[in-house]
Order: sequence, then structure tokens, then C-alpha cells
Amino acid sequence: MLIRVADLQLKKLEFKQDFQPGVIEYGLDFHQVSPLHTEGRAEVIVEHRGHKENVDDIRVVAKLDVTMEVGCARCLEPVQFAVNRAFDLLYRPMGVDKRAEEVAISEADTEIGYYEGEGLLLEDVMREQVLLASPVKQVCREDCKGLCPQCGANLNTATCNCQHPGDPRWAALSELKNKLQS
Ligand SMILES: [Zn+2]
Ligand SMILES: [Zn+2]
Repeated sequence: MLIRVADLQLKKLEFKQDFQPGVIEYGLDFHQVSPLHTEGRAEVIVEHRGHKENVDDIRVVAKLDVTMEVGCARCLEPVQFAVNRAFDLLYRPMGVDKRAEEVAISEADTEIGYYEGEGLLLEDVMREQVLLASPVKQVCREDCKGLCPQCGANLNTATCNCQHPGDPRWAALSELKNKLQS
């Protein structure tokens, strides 16, 4: 859904929308496994700069909720997690700030973004917010044992015959080593 500045200039937009899985591409390893529900509003905020310069910013105030899935950082099994997020964002027309200024602003305040051309795709806003709210590394459980670095077996569900640091055979060995060294 394109949020057009020209439409917002006439009327504030109230939206309530469900995006089915597959509509928004997240990249990385993230998959959407429930409809993404969002509701909120968008409006134009006019910034008066200097003599006659007006800048039309788009403000989006909304919330979203969705269930996402990503591979466990240790064992690669799918892990689901919920994202519930409320946000209040300001988008400026691309190019309105001088290059150096844009960089400085985006570093100082991530709540300011930029739109290109006619307006802003609601899908893009959603993708950005979901990724911001998603932890970089998810584990399926705190004590996930991960994959065996030698044979690749999932150590939560399988045992293998490789030796792993931390397993009893290694512990005995390092104990012996410590004794020999002291
Ligand atoms: Zn895991
Ligand atoms: Zn193994």
C-alpha cells in the first residue's frame, strides 16, 4: 500500500491492514508465519524552513503485531517469536537534507527516515520495524546444545561419537592435563 503525500495533503489517512505471509520480503533468514496486523495513521507534517521553503514530511504512528520465524543460531531448527511494536516515525523527502546532514541525522536519531518520489510503501515501513524489533540471534532454548562441529548432528535430539569440549571424556582429559602441568 502506497501512502501518497498528495493524498495526505487532502486528508489524514487511517489504516488497518493485514499482510499475509509472503507479501513482505524480509531477507536474511526471517520468515513471517502469521498475518501481520497493523493499524494506525499517516499524516503530512509541514516543516517550514527559511523563507519560502516548505518540506512535506510523512508521519506514521502505528502499531503492528506478527509472528516471525528464524533458524536457531545454534542448531538451525526454526524458532518462532512474536513482534509487538508501536512506533511514531517521521519520513522526509529524499534529498531535502544535505548529504552530510542526512548521515548525521540518521546516526543520531533512527526515528527519521526518508521517502522517495510520491510517497512511502507501508510494506517497507513494516519490514523495517519488524527487523528492528527482531533479535539478531535467536536460540530455540537457553540450553540448546547446537550442532556437533565435527559431524553436524543436532545434539538436542541425537548423540554422536565425536568428542566435544565440555563432555565428560574431555573433562577427564583436561583434568589429567592440569595435573601433569602442576
Ligand atoms: Zn537450537
Ligand atoms: Zn559429532
